[in-house]
Amino acid sequence: MDPEPEGDDDWTKYADTGYESSYDPWADMVAAEEPEEDDFDDEFEDYEENQISIREIPRCPAPAGIEHAIRIGTCDHCLGRIAGVRIAGDPLDAVGERVRGQALERDPDLKVNDDVECCPFCEDLFLDLDLISNRIASAIDGIECSRVQLGVHFAKDQVAAEEALRASIAATGSRPLKATLSDAIQSVVANKVPGISWVKERPELMILFDTLTLGVNVDIRALFLYGRYRKLERGVPQTRWPCRACRGRDGGCESCNFTGQQYPDSIQSLVCEPLVEHTQAKSDAFHGMGREDIDVRCIGNGRPFVAELKSPLRRTLDLDKLTKEINKAAKDKIEITGLRLSNRAEVSRIKETNAEKSYTIRFTCDHDFDEEEVITRIQSLSGQVLEQQTPQRVAHRRADKIRKRKVISIDNIQVEENEIEFDVRCESGTYVKELVHSDEGRTNPSVAAVLEGDCEVIWLDVKDIHAD
Ligand SMILES: [Zn+2]
Ligand SMILES: [Zn+2]
Repeated sequence: MDPEPEGDDDWTKYADTGYESSYDPWADMVAAEEPEEDDFDDEFEDYEENQISIREIPRCPAPAGIEHAIRIGTCDHCLGRIAGVRIAGDPLDAVGERVRGQALERDPDLKVNDDVECCPFCEDLFLDLDLISNRIASAIDGIECSRVQLGVHFAKDQVAAEEALRASIAATGSRPLKATLSDAIQSVVANKVPGISWVKERPELMILFDTLTLGVNVDIRALFLYGRYRKLERGVPQTRWPCRACRGRDGGCESCNFTGQQYPDSIQSLVCEPLVEHTQAKSDAFHGMGREDIDVRCIGNGRPFVAELKSPLRRTLDLDKLTKEINKAAKDKIEITGLRLSNRAEVSRIKETNAEKSYTIRFTCDHDFDEEEVITRIQSLSGQVLEQQTPQRVAHRRADKIRKRKVISIDNIQVEENEIEFDVRCESGTYVKELVHSDEGRTNPSVAAVLEGDCEVIWLDVKDIHAD
């Protein structure tokens, strides 16, 4: 029985992965065994012979199988993994060492074949455990995290080759290379970095280790915070709004005071900037449950939002203290409440929630009716379904179509000469200014239509968002 040919045969599969690109496993052998003929048929016959020799070697834990594994250069970790003698709790390399020692006792002449360069199962990855774990530990140094997930990436060919080799000589039930290496890395890194726990879902940190390059890639998952904001001042946009003149490029321009922003503040900047500072995040995103126009306030309980802090280095936050800090810095502009930890799923939830909203709106009207008649006519709109063609003011960014939205109720109609104010609750997506002035007849019915006059909106407040 000559185990060498099939050992080398398997080596070609490793060589194909690119791991050993400079190593040609056939370089010695072809010259020695097939000096003259090198055609396909010969190779095929040779292959058949090799197959037979594979069958002749018993699998581990048979002593002959273990001896074969040692001859082809199996490392202690892999020997411990494939020998089929593992005792639960023993480290793999200790098991491998013991198995090797027992085999040497049986046959003192047993040795690793001369042409072996590294372990055919793991290509010596287990010997690099210390290097690998040091790289990972330094890659995550300075990042606050407790839930960490490890991904180990192998070249597909290497996985297939290892599986084939394991199927031919390893004991039944031997653990795959990937899972074993992953466990080994995790236990070594855990010893070097206190306070982390390895998880398989909802990680704060994703570490991807590439076995080909020994490269470590760290992905810090975003931190999400939910809250509600009240907007107390008009003229503040919900999200950052790049300067129209310079589009926020190259450090801004004269017209934006070199801020790159059309408006000095936004709800996003007022909420997120202190959060970015405390979490040392790279950037932020702001997700509101709908939005109000820049000239519209939002009072009552406020509008739900989720702030997304991207790649944060810090995750432990004193939310009460942060709330106070944000509200103090944004005094008279906005106010936030109910700050708590959130997640990406909640972003979708608040984006998809079609909450009814209540508004207070004040406008002028050149009507000719007395107060009672005005109230009756406006009240007649309560419970009606509006047909709203896309308003002219948003036509450039919204599809032109007719939307049907219900006016749930109208209350508190107050008439002061030609100024009128009322509260209205309506379906999500109702254009409320258009409900009043009719947008030149594009919204039907409307306050302007029932009052038979021209209406001009003075201001609009979101009074409540009926959600959460
Ligand atoms: Zn190995
Ligand atoms: Zn500018």
